[in-house]
Amino acid sequence: MTLTAITAIRRATAVSLRRTLAPTSTSVSVRALSTAPHVTIDKFVSPSNYSTHQDTVLRHPNDVRERNAPFTEETSRTLGYVTASVRNDWTKSEIAEVYSLPFHELMYRASTVHRMYWDPSEVQQCTLLSIKTGGCTEDCSYCSQSSKHKTFVKPTPTMKVQEVLEAARRAKEAGSTRFCMGAAWRELGNKKNAFGHILEMVRGVNSMGLEVCCTLGMLNAEQARQLKEAGLTAYNHNLDTSPEHYPNVITTRTYEDRLQTIANVRDAGISVCCGGILGLGEKESDRVGLLHVLATLPEHPESVPINALVAVQGTPLGDAAANDEADSEGIANVDAFEMARMIATARIVMPRTMVRLSAGRLSFSDAEQYLMFQAGANSIFNGDKLLTTDNPAFDEDKALFEKFGFVGKPAHAGPRVAPMEVRGEVEITLVKGAEKQYA
Ligand code: SF4
Repeated sequence: MTLTAITAIRRATAVSLRRTLAPTSTSVSVRALSTAPHVTIDKFVSPSNYSTHQDTVLRHPNDVRERNAPFTEETSRTLGYVTASVRNDWTKSEIAEVYSLPFHELMYRASTVHRMYWDPSEVQQCTLLSIKTGGCTEDCSYCSQSSKHKTFVKPTPTMKVQEVLEAARRAKEAGSTRFCMGAAWRELGNKKNAFGHILEMVRGVNSMGLEVCCTLGMLNAEQARQLKEAGLTAYNHNLDTSPEHYPNVITTRTYEDRLQTIANVRDAGISVCCGGILGLGEKESDRVGLLHVLATLPEHPESVPINALVAVQGTPLGDAAANDEADSEGIANVDAFEMARMIATARIVMPRTMVRLSAGRLSFSDAEQYLMFQAGANSIFNGDKLLTTDNPAFDEDKALFEKFGFVGKPAHAGPRVAPMEVRGEVEITLVKGAEKQYA
C-alpha cells in the first residue's frame, strides 16, 4: 500500500472531531503556519490498515514508513498537561531544556509521552551476535575489538552461515524477535565473499520469521540496496556521541562518514537503528548534542539504542577508568539516573522511535532498569553476550519481564497501538488543508 493511500485512509477515518479551530486560535498548541490551515482536535479512530493480532490487540503497520504515514497531518498530542510532537526542527537549547528538567518532572513527562505513542507493556527482545569478532582497523577508544588495542579479544574469522542460523533459532526459541548480526569491520568495502554469506544469513534469518538487523560498518548505496532486497529489516550504525566530542573517541573515520552510511541505509528503505554510548568522557552538552543530531535527521531513526560504556581493560577508555586518571571524569561509571535522563529525553524528542536499553545492563539492578523502562525504553538486548561483553542471560530477562508485567513484541507484527490512545484519552491536533510549514 502506498503512503498516499495510507494517509487517505487515516484522513477518511479521522471522523470523531470534537471541535474545529481557526488557525489563529490561541487555545491550541499549534505552531506558526504559512497558509491558512484547517485545525482540528481529534481522537483515535482505527484506520483500516491497522491489524489485529491473535491477542486482539490493535497494531500499527510494522514497516516504519507505513507506520508513520498516517500521521503526516498530526501536529501534536496532549495528555494531561503534557504535549508532544514528532518534529525534526528541534534546537539544541530546546533539547537541553528537556534534558535539564528536574528528574521527577522529566520522568513524568517521558512516561506520559510514552503512553501517548506506545503500549508501555510491550518491550521488544533482540539478540545481537558477533559474526566476525576482533581485528577491526578502526580505533574506537571504547572497543575491545579494535586491532589498535590489546584486549582479551582474539580475532576470529567470519562465522559460517549455518552456525549463525543455529544461533538465530536459539534466540527465537528464547523469545527474541529481532536478530542482529555484528561484524568488526571498518566498512563492508570489497568483501565480496563475506557479503555473499551475509546476504545468505539475512535471507535465512528472515525466513525464520525474525526481524533482521546488521551492523557491518560503513555501507555504500548499492550494498544497502542488496541487503534490503535480501530481507534486511534494519541497519545499525551508531553515532556514539556529539560531533564535537567524536574526535576525542575515534580518529579513523569521521562523523560525516557515519551520517553518509545512515543516509544510504535510509534511502534504501531500510529502518535506521542509530544511537550512542554514555561514559565516553562526554559532557552533558555532548549527550544533548547527540540527541540533537538524531532528532533533526530528515526522518527520526526507527530505533535508538542507548548504551552505558562497559569499560574493557586494554582499551584507552577502559584503562583510563581503571587507573582513575585525572582526566577520566565522565568515563564509565554511568549511573542509572544518567541513563534514565538520556532515555527520557530521547523518548520526548523522538516520540515514535523505539528506544533500546542496550549495553551495560548487567551493572544495573532490576529496580534501576525499571527506572529506564519508565523513562520510555521499550526494547532490550537479551542473551548472555552483547558482541564481546557480558549481558543478562535469557532466564534472567524472562524473570524480569514477569516481574514487570511486560510482554515481548512479535516479529514483523508492528507495535501495539497505545491503549490510552485507543481509549480516547489522548487529544490529537491535526492540521488539514495545508502543508505544514514550521516557522
Ligand atoms: S566499534 Fe566497531 S568500528 Fe569501532 S573498533 Fe569496534 S568493531 Fe571496529
